[in-house]
Amino acid sequence: MVQDSKRMRPNILVTGTPGTGKTTTSAALAESTQFRHISIGDLVREKNLHDGWDDELECHIINEDLVCDELEDVMEQGGNIVDYHGCDFFPERWFDRVVVLQTDNSVLYDRLSKRGYTGAKLTNNIECEIFQVLLEEAKESYPENIVVALKSDTIEDITRNVTTLTDWVRSWQPTPQ
Ligand code: ADP
Ligand code: MN
Repeated sequence: MVQDSKRMRPNILVTGTPGTGKTTTSAALAESTQFRHISIGDLVREKNLHDGWDDELECHIINEDLVCDELEDVMEQGGNIVDYHGCDFFPERWFDRVVVLQTDNSVLYDRLSKRGYTGAKLTNNIECEIFQVLLEEAKESYPENIVVALKSDTIEDITRNVTTLTDWVRSWQPTPQ
């Protein structure tokens, strides 16, 4: 097959530790850009793209191959904001920008406690943020010049991040073939 279709709109991945504001930021960005917001967690639940439930981590065991197959066509069209707390299993070619949201530990602790996280689930996520696991994963999985870390402690941070990313989307140009 001749592969000459370059997407006319970019795809953005919004990643980060749970609670850093991925879904809030992605929803606001989708509204200001009219891009599609794809929450991988919701997609996995709706389309059963998992291999059961992990009792220890209290989440679905995501089937990464099924998720990637499900999204291939829509990603090729461009104009997607993908929201997930992982980034190493998506094809590198899917994304033009990879945003890693970061939150101060004590702020994140309060957010996750409010969400009902306790015990190992809470401490694992705080450690994930302290050790910048998602930023490292993003840098290992994508070209460093498309990865950007953005602070997400306050509502003002979200507003600023959405403005910055919307400006970036508006100025984006497809690579000439
Ligand atoms: P994620 O999708 O990364 O798990 P959410 O967007 O669901 O995070 O946000 C988790 C909670 O924290 C929500 O109640 C949200 O309103 C709040 N929140 C997220 N980011 C911020 C922020 N930058 N400032 C204030 N509250 C935030
Ligand atoms: Mn979320």
